[in-house]
Amino acid sequence: MGIRKVSEQLDWQGKHVTVAGLGVSGIPAARVLHGRGAVVTVVNDGDDERSRAQAAELEAEGITVRLGDGATLPSGTELLVTTPGWRPDKPIFAAAAEAGVEVWGDVELAWRLRGPGAAPWLAVTGTNGKTTTTRMLASILEAAGLRTAAVGNIGVSLLDAVLGEEEYDVLAVELSSYQLHWAPSVRAHSAVVLNLAPDHLDWHGSMEAYAADKGRIYEGNQVACVYNTADKATEDLVREADVEEGCRAIGFTLGTPGLSELGVVEGILVDRAFVENRQKQAQELAEVSDVRPPAPHNIANALAAAALARAFGVEARAVREGLRAFRPDPHRIELVEEVEGVTYVDDSKATNTHAAEASLAAYDPIVWIAGGLAKGATFDELVQKSAKRLRGAVLMGADRALIREALARHAPEVPVVDLDRTDTGAMSEAVREAARLARPGDTVLLAPACASMDMFTNYNKRGEAFADAVRALAATGPA
Ligand code: ADP
Repeated sequence: MGIRKVSEQLDWQGKHVTVAGLGVSGIPAARVLHGRGAVVTVVNDGDDERSRAQAAELEAEGITVRLGDGATLPSGTELLVTTPGWRPDKPIFAAAAEAGVEVWGDVELAWRLRGPGAAPWLAVTGTNGKTTTTRMLASILEAAGLRTAAVGNIGVSLLDAVLGEEEYDVLAVELSSYQLHWAPSVRAHSAVVLNLAPDHLDWHGSMEAYAADKGRIYEGNQVACVYNTADKATEDLVREADVEEGCRAIGFTLGTPGLSELGVVEGILVDRAFVENRQKQAQELAEVSDVRPPAPHNIANALAAAALARAFGVEARAVREGLRAFRPDPHRIELVEEVEGVTYVDDSKATNTHAAEASLAAYDPIVWIAGGLAKGATFDELVQKSAKRLRGAVLMGADRALIREALARHAPEVPVVDLDRTDTGAMSEAVREAARLARPGDTVLLAPACASMDMFTNYNKRGEAFADAVRALAATGPA
């Protein structure tokens, strides 16, 4: 038992390390390793003005940078540290494998560099809900008086967290499937895979490879592997994991919890996993109304966060306080405004069908605003499951025809407005059209099920455009 303290054993002096990719994780990695005495070369595909400026800065510090060639592994490389986004089928990884060179991502690097006695990690992954769950977890840990932070794929880099001045008792760590792919030796105290649905398959190559990378989060867990009882794939991953002796499998469910599960009984979140007499008793943790927003998938996120916190020994009171103090990030089922009895909700972050399905399940009736870049997704299942709640749909963006066709197949009675414009006014028109379709008591829901980049810089901008359009509508009234 116990976490290996490898950091003291690593001698970086004179070690030839190649860092793949200038960028948010590459540049700090190069600097840290150079600071420890490694001989660092950064390789980068791009050779544009920005990367030349970054390269000049690094070169001035004594780091070699090779621009315009991210494919070749410099000879003499002893370790390759990669930006998590780089696809594993890039030639540089084949070259590393052939030369017997280990490949670490940013998370692996942080894990190996963390100091003795470093804070344990409570780790969160899944196709959807990662950020929300990680932040809820950090909020609960804080309410328990622990020194903690939400880190990882979430804004604060793990490297900063493990090397910074600040001391932590425990970290709430969000990990993406890309990061897990390149993190062979990370061992969490406890971890959760929230759910598994096809996403990023172009990167991973197949659903099996994607699931296997997500499942890596359970490897070597010490106290609890938390899974979703409604998503068998997550339970299968727990079963396949090699964990520390005594580590338990803990389920979470929106129904009544079985033994070693957290669940919901009559509007109360309860724990039947981390209580003394769990054969007969359950511990009340919080009420459904303590969770914001109290949509079913978000209750699931809260249960997962609570399970990890409880695995770390946090008392029930702190779960309730932490959930109450939690504020969701913008564009995640965010209530924008009510206009003439119609509620406008921004879930621009629903960038895939699995996420959109969750938010469509939370309202009834709905005027649905959807569309954008489908990333290879199909919409039949989503439309079939949501059809009976749809008052109407307004479609926009590059791949809207795919959704229109699915609606025609499975919900021909639902009125559809197809917007054939991508200019900045498109969202205003979408909101006006949605307002026309909606009746008092309805929800107009932006849950695009698609990425935003065909029309917007990112999902934030898409959500802001929606909120602006709703406010304009509130100011002027429907046309
Ligand atoms: P991630 O960090 O995994 O992208 P977020 O917490 O940012 O997840 O939520 C992204 C979107 O996914 C939300 O806007 C919501 O539509 C959806 N979502 C959140 N939690 C879940 C869940 N447990 N199951 C399905 N969809 C979810």
